Amino acid sequence: MRTTTVARMQSGDILPGLHPGYERNMATIESLLTIADLPDSPTPRLDAELLLAAALNKPRSYLRTWPERELDAAQQAQFSAFMQRRRNGEPVAYILGHQGFWSLDLEVAPHTLIPRPDTELLVETALELLPAGPLAVLDLGTGTGAIALALASERPAWQVTGVDRVEDAVALAERNRQRLTLGNACFLHSHWFSALVEQRYGLILSNPPYIRADDQHLEQGDVRFEPSSALVAGSDGLDDIRAIIRAAPDHLLSGGWLMLEHGFDQAEAVRRLLDAGGFVEVHSRRDLAGLDRISLGRFDRE
Ligand code: GLN
Repeated sequence: MRTTTVARMQSGDILPGLHPGYERNMATIESLLTIADLPDSPTPRLDAELLLAAALNKPRSYLRTWPERELDAAQQAQFSAFMQRRRNGEPVAYILGHQGFWSLDLEVAPHTLIPRPDTELLVETALELLPAGPLAVLDLGTGTGAIALALASERPAWQVTGVDRVEDAVALAERNRQRLTLGNACFLHSHWFSALVEQRYGLILSNPPYIRADDQHLEQGDVRFEPSSALVAGSDGLDDIRAIIRAAPDHLLSGGWLMLEHGFDQAEAVRRLLDAGGFVEVHSRRDLAGLDRISLGRFDRE
């Protein structure tokens, strides 16, 4: 560990055996990153860098540019408080209060799921399959607004509605929309389609809850801090996906697409539900890890 000794002179403050004043080790950026200890995190170095940059109120690149720079007492205290929270298991995104998704930086809060890179597959697929011209789009269970805002930012001609049954999520998504000044998105309080009686869309997509209630993963890692309302969907994890597939045809324009994220082992079951619901061109697509992560189909109205 590299430290720098700082002697602060204070008159009349002479302790037995010590140099007048007192000495204190001050830590540099580099030394703090070297000793940072996050045994339970899958990404300890990244986490420590993000938390240190936040404690300094600087971008992460600053750490590499100024490895010898020393933190003042307030910055050290802030960093150690952040690290303590992370050691207790709290996700970095909740500590920082924001998270990147697609090209956007989004405010996050504990009442919503933290947007994940896997979910960018829904955005990519929507951009690939649907024309860039005017289109009504619905994002069910929008949380931070991640999917809706990513699509709104890429397709100015699309009109994107995001709904959530958690009112705090709707308010959070709206704050994200305002900060990003995306006038072609809006957010509503609705449990799936409950507040959308007559509306129809050319694209409906969702990252709904899809974890089985007895899944051991719910007791491990970052997910413990996320709301179970955004994660858990009955004994087989498919309760919400079933509800969405059942109701979606009444809200799709003819030929409109329904795209759903699901668990790595649920693709076949979701395709079967889409087939049984009368959807066509049903298929699944793989995420960056090579796992079937979304399934989709379109609904032709005779
Ligand atoms: N992919 C998330 C996870 O496994 C779950 C997200 C969800 O249920 N929609 O942690």
